[in-house]
Amino acid sequence: MKPPIYVTQPYLPPLEEFIPYLQEIWDKKMLTNGGPFHQQLEKALCEYLGVKHLALFSNGTLGLITALQALRITGEVITTPYSFVATAHSLLWNGIKPVFVDVDPNTLNLDPARIEAAITPHTTAIMPVHCYGHPCDVQAIQKIADNYNLKVIYDAAHAFGVQDEVGSVLRHGDLSVLSFHATKVFNTFEGGAIICPDAKTKLRIDQLKNFGFVDEVTVVAPGINGKMSEINAAFGLLQLKHVDQALARRKSIDAAYREALKNVPGIRCLQDAGEQVANYSYFPILVEADYPLSRDALYQKLKDNSIFARRYFYPLITDFPMYRGMPSAHRENLPVAFAAAQKVLCLPIYPNLANSDLARVTSILKGD
Ligand SMILES: *Cc1c(COP(=O)(O)O)cnc(C)c1O
Repeated sequence: MKPPIYVTQPYLPPLEEFIPYLQEIWDKKMLTNGGPFHQQLEKALCEYLGVKHLALFSNGTLGLITALQALRITGEVITTPYSFVATAHSLLWNGIKPVFVDVDPNTLNLDPARIEAAITPHTTAIMPVHCYGHPCDVQAIQKIADNYNLKVIYDAAHAFGVQDEVGSVLRHGDLSVLSFHATKVFNTFEGGAIICPDAKTKLRIDQLKNFGFVDEVTVVAPGINGKMSEINAAFGLLQLKHVDQALARRKSIDAAYREALKNVPGIRCLQDAGEQVANYSYFPILVEADYPLSRDALYQKLKDNSIFARRYFYPLITDFPMYRGMPSAHRENLPVAFAAAQKVLCLPIYPNLANSDLARVTSILKGD
């Protein structure tokens, strides 16, 4: 049996490079609560990402939950069914009703043309996802938000380092939320961040992630414990030193897949990044009807060869029991997302993927 190839593998810098960071934590005995590494990582990430303010979190999901709380979002929020379940779960955790809207067939991001029809007097915000790191149609979404006085909170869990023609894609909307989970392009084992437009918003978010404390004796909101620890922040600082190299390797894997698969009938790659700065966080393909195998048969064939591709995002969020009874979750409302969920397969992509492993994957797809 050949060694397994997983869809992703966390990027781990050499262990000896991490030891000095640990030594510093042991020396200073500051383990969490906004210690020196936490402060340094917030500053370093602002510089790297090209954003002004950023609040670190212990994971992306608590970031999403806190972003909604910070903006006092209530009622109904328009979101996508084609995402990781945490997107919609963050709404339920705030007692908000998700209203699902279909996606665009080319980007698989929330389709702005369908948003207006889903707006009701209870709608207060839109929560789109930059799926696979492809930027949403941010201009069209902002226009609708402005017309109807809605907030926009981007689930930017896939969008670390992504830029459009002007700058970071994270500057759009009222808030954007990153995930630094082990499976993401940039990881702190577990972690996340909210990108904030100004210092005042960051201050409120910093309070909410620390139980709502504003000083030693004053609590102003039912905040949560969402603080990133020093060990995670230290790892993030180390990881940041290597991230450009990791992104460059991802880019070359993306190009190699596109080249190898371009003439394979029935395999469609999503559009490439073009002029934008992408992060190549995923390599989704759509297995169309003219491919000799069904998507699930191909998934199984890869698995039989120890290649563990993943069907992101299948099932749709709207197929899970806490969502499927909602009117907006019906399949007839979401034909594009439903079709994509039946066809998609994410192929292995990560910095340490060897060329020989990549060839193992593409030769099965080509049916060699
Ligand atoms: C990973 C992910 C999350 C959750 O982030 P965690 O850091 O794992 O809590 C949320 N939304 C999307 C789209 C994700 O991919």
